[in-house]
Amino acid sequence: MTTAYDKASEAARALLTAFDEIQLAEMCAAQSARIRRVRLLHREEYGGCAECTHESMVSWPCRTIRAVDGEQPDA
Ligand SMILES: [Zn+2]
Repeated sequence: MTTAYDKASEAARALLTAFDEIQLAEMCAAQSARIRRVRLLHREEYGGCAECTHESMVSWPCRTIRAVDGEQPDA
């Protein structure tokens, strides 16, 4: 039988051995808050990114939001 632990990534297993559940929950909450702050900065505004657009339009979603959404950045 495959358990949730079996399916966990190596990074997740490493966290489980180093922290208790409360600490993990605090870390998840803090990371979620950070991502919310990034999304607030990099919000769509008139079809572009409100943070990245300066003199020329950076279409939305910008590279930052795409990276937050899981896209691998260009090399
Ligand atoms: Zn942006």
